[in-house]
Amino acid sequence: MDRVFLDGAAHLKPLLILGVTGSIGQQTLDVAEYLGSPVAGIAAFRGSQSLVDSAMRVPDAAVVAVGPTAEEQDMLISTLGRRVSFGLEALLEMAATPHTIAVNGIVGAAGLAPTVAALDAGNRVALANKETLIAGGPVVVAAATAGPGEIIPVDSEHSALWQCLVGETEASVSRLVLTASGGPFRGKSKEFLDDVTVDQALAHPTWSMGPRITIDSATLMNKAFEVIEAHYLYAIPYDQIDVVVHPQSIVHSLVEFVDGTLKAELGDPDMRVPIQYAITYPERVKADMEQFDLTKAPLLFEEPDRKVFPCLDLGYEAGRIGGSAPAVLNAADEVAVAAFLQGRIPFLAIADIVESTLEQIPVVDLASVADVLAVDETARKVAAANVEVNVRAG
Ligand code: NAD
Ligand code: MG
Repeated sequence: MDRVFLDGAAHLKPLLILGVTGSIGQQTLDVAEYLGSPVAGIAAFRGSQSLVDSAMRVPDAAVVAVGPTAEEQDMLISTLGRRVSFGLEALLEMAATPHTIAVNGIVGAAGLAPTVAALDAGNRVALANKETLIAGGPVVVAAATAGPGEIIPVDSEHSALWQCLVGETEASVSRLVLTASGGPFRGKSKEFLDDVTVDQALAHPTWSMGPRITIDSATLMNKAFEVIEAHYLYAIPYDQIDVVVHPQSIVHSLVEFVDGTLKAELGDPDMRVPIQYAITYPERVKADMEQFDLTKAPLLFEEPDRKVFPCLDLGYEAGRIGGSAPAVLNAADEVAVAAFLQGRIPFLAIADIVESTLEQIPVVDLASVADVLAVDETARKVAAANVEVNVRAG
């Protein structure tokens, strides 16, 4: 071991906050303000008031809106009075700004191309957008290993695993254990889930997040995604990745080592902690946190109910098949969750739509972002057709 402690203040590069108007994006703005990190650019999909409000917090940042309406474009130009660009090309150009850290808080497969652009530019990506790895794992891993670009995970479970793995060797790891809160429907039966509402599914017990990931937490698809994410981040076979339900969300995940030792990372569920760590790694900087009270609550662990929540095993299956299967899993889920949020399909149809879509699309290898986006597009069309079959009567 070279040394136990790292010294000195964190050397903070300017940040790019992609998906700035979202849950991760807004918390990243808080962390940037707290750390005093310069912000070189912010990006979101729409030209919303929230993007304007975010831009006011970072007066020196370039601003990108990927898909604004014509009125939104006019509003942004007149309100901001500074560099503001539009469209996907502008987002990719921003992501490739040299000597920056890109915090990717975009939701969905749209996060893939900017992640690869930032990695190709040799930058660190503080990665919250898990769909980047689910849809394009092989392509992203290739981009991260080809040059100096690196991925530091923001997803709380993967940040926990990362922290447990620091200083260890690959051969010493026997198992990764991802914790799952179990979501709002933990302990419920299939009959109960048959007619749950959107509001019930959006009421996450421990984390406050965007709508897609909140529904994915209710189906356990989020945990399935995180298993695949862990497989690509840590090059660990699926047989050595387990999921345990831990309703308190205090233990954020664990690593089991060959000598029987388990290491865990604990703390209150607050995404600002893993966001900050992904920015300052390998250093730790004092955070704006209250001390955790260990006596506060018992920590419980239980088996996930794989029959009531079939999305978990669908994820393992797609992960083991590999190639384009996880991309199909993600695209089909994205379409099904959107349909559920619009009240068009029942909750249990989400898993059915994903399963049918996986069965209907042949698996291919993925070598480029274009390959991933082509599979994504096909899977969305097939999933959309499967949604129609499941649309609620009346
Ligand atoms: P959100 O819905 O709150 O925000 C999404 C952001 O992405 C918005 O700023 C939106 O404008 C932007 N966006 C959407 N489509 C875009 C496009 N085509 N191009 C550019 N920008 C686009 O989502 P969130 O909860 O902040 O989650 C973001 C990502 O982080 C997701 O992948 C999610 O799985 C992951 N994540 C979130 C949390 C959390 O606590 N919220 C925790 C772990 C991982
Ligand atoms: Mg997570």
